[in-house]
Amino acid sequence: MSGEFSFIARHFRPLAGRESLDLRDDCALISCPPGQEMAISTDTMVENVHFLPDDPPETLGRKLLRCNLSDIAAMGATPYAYTLNVTIPRGPRHNDTWFSAFVSGLSEDQTRYGVILLGGDTTSTSGPLVLSATVFGRLHKGTALRRNGAKPGDSLWVTGTIGDAALGLLALQGKVPDPSGFLADRYRLPRPRTGLALNGIVHAAMDISDGLIQDCQHIAEESDVAIDLQADAVPASPEAKSLGPKWLEQRLTGGDDYELLLACPPEQEASLAQICRDAEIPVTRIGTIRSGSGVRALNQAGQVIQFLKGGWQHF
Ligand SMILES: [Mg+2]
Repeated sequence: MSGEFSFIARHFRPLAGRESLDLRDDCALISCPPGQEMAISTDTMVENVHFLPDDPPETLGRKLLRCNLSDIAAMGATPYAYTLNVTIPRGPRHNDTWFSAFVSGLSEDQTRYGVILLGGDTTSTSGPLVLSATVFGRLHKGTALRRNGAKPGDSLWVTGTIGDAALGLLALQGKVPDPSGFLADRYRLPRPRTGLALNGIVHAAMDISDGLIQDCQHIAEESDVAIDLQADAVPASPEAKSLGPKWLEQRLTGGDDYELLLACPPEQEASLAQICRDAEIPVTRIGTIRSGSGVRALNQAGQVIQFLKGGWQHF
């Protein structure tokens, strides 16, 4: 066996499901049961852009997988499988020990989220480590949660707490204190909100990756509505709160939350709350949707808060 084949056999074959044909053929073969369709999402993470060089290897594959799974959750699909591409810097650092740790993290999350590896590719580079995954989810045809269904009169909700990952990155850069390590953990390991059966309950959904304000803009634009956000209703963790109110803008524009942003009609609010309670996922009402365009963040007095930046810019 050549080096690459034995490397794949050693590290990745244990992650592969039956549909991968043991990573021995040209393609994987997957079927889609009648009446269902596939939700597909892909993500790339580059060292020093999306993660830090000293992030533990066991968290890297998990973060990659979880960012993708968050998209699957945002469509209301059930996670099924994924492919993985790894571009490895030449040199001694990414050795067997590193890959064992990397794969152990993936293995843990495969069990947690019910996904299998279908295939992938490994290449080497003189540049930074690059990780890329494509995740497949299944859902009943025509039931996907889209961004374009929000209607005037809906209320806006988020799962979990907002801003922890953005503050976690600042903590890892030594800019804010994080004595318990909670914030850094939220940066390294998102909690994708899979398993919520919100199809038929909410009018629109997306996951928050670029920052709450910017992602509200995405829903507002796609749905052709305006959004009023109650800034002080946006839930903060005790750890984020302890840093004080001056971090509000960072929390609302920072990104990497991987929580769900939901537009819910009034008659479904009780169902939404019940579904999230049953799943032990906190959900909070943070705003309202009205006719018009644009996103406003309002303070307690109802005045518009001006932020310097809208959210994460990719380019
Ligand atoms: Mg997304």
